Amino acid sequence: MNSKAKKEIREATTEELSVLLNDLNEKPFRLQQIHEWLWMKWARSFDAMTNLSKNLREELALRYEFRAITVDHTQQSSDGTIKVRFKTFDGHFIEGVLIPTTDRLTACISSQIGCSLTCRFCATGKMKRVRNLFHYEIFDQVAILQEIAEKNFSKRLSNIVYMGMGEPLLNYNNVLRSIDKITSPKGMAMSPSRITVSTSGITKQIRELADEKVKFNLAISLHAADNAKRSKMMPINDTNTLEELIDSLDYFYKKTGTAITYEYILFQDVNDSETDAANLVKLCRRIPSKVNLIEYNTVEDVPYQKAGHESLDKFITYLQKNRVNVRVRRSRGKDIDAACGQLANKNN
Ligand code: SAH
Ligand code: SF4
Repeated sequence: MNSKAKKEIREATTEELSVLLNDLNEKPFRLQQIHEWLWMKWARSFDAMTNLSKNLREELALRYEFRAITVDHTQQSSDGTIKVRFKTFDGHFIEGVLIPTTDRLTACISSQIGCSLTCRFCATGKMKRVRNLFHYEIFDQVAILQEIAEKNFSKRLSNIVYMGMGEPLLNYNNVLRSIDKITSPKGMAMSPSRITVSTSGITKQIRELADEKVKFNLAISLHAADNAKRSKMMPINDTNTLEELIDSLDYFYKKTGTAITYEYILFQDVNDSETDAANLVKLCRRIPSKVNLIEYNTVEDVPYQKAGHESLDKFITYLQKNRVNVRVRRSRGKDIDAACGQLANKNN
């Protein structure tokens, strides 16, 4: 059997593994052990599966392989943030970030290699989309960041955000399969309320998430509450307009009961006026929601600048006066380009 014909072991079905174990005269409980190695102990090689006989490991390796993600490079910021450049089995690079704060330890992970969307302010948006990540590649990022978290901070991850490279809802099935394993009691057993998927607003898939009654949080990269401005920053708005987006979010809220988070980067003289704030307030009244004002991380060759303190203060005051639940998300890991939207796998 050449290696091309081998299947990723984490794509194997329970049925097919049972048949194989039976053919090999192995006891049925071996199935449970294999499952535990894959999803509860995050094995990324057959050698790691030490309670299986050498013979069984060899038989598995004859038929299956791991297309696991590996760590290519790690950098730590002066604020404790750790950025990891991962390498895929086929030689591509993606990035993940571990962000420690006083009460949280958050893993920010990628869902695609590059991104097909071209948001003007985003470093990933300047790359071509190479391919979707497989569900086990998304899972591997979390497992590896979890291992780094335990080693560096002696703590488990408290939160996972799909805010690295790529548009998660354009890799819908793999993202959902990864979340299934992360939240399963027979996987990482993490609460879905600790997971946030961030999207530029793909309305068709937001409705699908609603129909599936998902339990994780949804964050929308809004950045402007009027169509003309939003389309200029985010071309996806041409085909998924604000009206359609709000309708889909209304549907999502009705089906799931989960409030929406709007992400809003404040750009100087672009989306930081009182009219912009008033539009945002109006939009926030439509569905139970909160706003994260994100500090912009400068990206090369981008015509936008981060708003100054004064306009940030005014904007916040206006939102608060109008009873919008708003928080400011300061940039982390700036000195190592590990902040939101800066993950573009520079060769550093
Ligand atoms: N594609 C998804 C998830 C990845 S981007 C999305 O667009 O939501 C994650 C977040 O980082 C988004 O809110 C995005 O708007 C924001 N972002 C992109 N570039 C940024 C930058 N340079 N500084 C700060 N936030 C940025
Ligand atoms: Fe893609 Fe999100 Fe960046 Fe837009 S902000 S280009 S959707 S990664």
